[in-house]
Amino acid sequence: QNNAQSSVTYDDVFRGVQGKSILSRLRLDGKVAYVTGAGQGIGRAFAHALGEAGAKVAIVDIDKTKAERVTHELTLKGICSMALAADISRAEDVQQMIDSIISKWGGVHIACNNAGINMNSASEDTALDEWDQTFNVNLRGTFMCCQAAGRVMLKQGYGKIINTASMASLIVPHPQKQLAYNTSKAGVVKLTQTLGTEWIDRGVRVNCISPGIVDTPLIHSESLEPLLQRWLSDIPAGRLAQVTDLQAAVVYLASEASDYMTGHNLVIEGGQSLW
Ligand code: NAD
Repeated sequence: QNNAQSSVTYDDVFRGVQGKSILSRLRLDGKVAYVTGAGQGIGRAFAHALGEAGAKVAIVDIDKTKAERVTHELTLKGICSMALAADISRAEDVQQMIDSIISKWGGVHIACNNAGINMNSASEDTALDEWDQTFNVNLRGTFMCCQAAGRVMLKQGYGKIINTASMASLIVPHPQKQLAYNTSKAGVVKLTQTLGTEWIDRGVRVNCISPGIVDTPLIHSESLEPLLQRWLSDIPAGRLAQVTDLQAAVVYLASEASDYMTGHNLVIEGGQSLW
């Protein structure tokens, strides 16, 4: 009846998770979180989910008005939150974001690095400017957020980092033309794997979520809108994802229930990457 690592019995293991139920292990009470790109779309849904699970949430967006609107929504639900304006592609903004959270709430336990942009052009026409802009936000920006939050978390000896990658990191969704986007998101997965394994022994877990095609303003751009019908036929689930389809995943990855998971890419795409 002993388990493999010590003289602890299997029953001790169950009692040892502090006698807590699985639902209570998913709670985030007392935790401080931030979400970048939380002014709309997926980030907004992540912020609501983390707040509903008990965390205080800093709503970070390049657009302060949008961030304030979401902060107001959370306040109406009785969730403690604050709005911060930051462009995650600027190192000084990223550091200021972390400093503001620490000066107000004393730490950072959950870093949700979600902000990202997408531009579409055929690979042969992709301008270096488009490539640089995409990478500056999606990969360099995500790295800077991971590093700034990670430094705090390593000192605390605890932290959960959740990056938003994309199914496009794994497959090339047909018939999109988004070389820079796909490549930057593949970089986010590798960043996550590397940090996730490097920091786990100091209490910091790093994972990412790869959504399929999610119904947000991002996909209703002029260049993507015409592709929607085609995409629908590529999704075994028969519909686009809604932001609410992703909310449980972020709570799980932010909670102690996922403490043994690090460096991984949680793919939520209605089966699209398997077809
Ligand atoms: P969205 O465009 O609806 O929202 C993105 C938010 O990020 C906006 O509020 C915008 O103001 C903010 N933002 C943009 N650049 C920023 C910057 N430099 N600094 C701070 N904030 C910035 O996008 P979304 O669909 O909610 O996507 C969120 C994340 O999910 C992105 O990383 C995106 O690549 C990824 N994703 C989206 C889909 C999808 O189908 N919508 C699929 C897979 C992955």
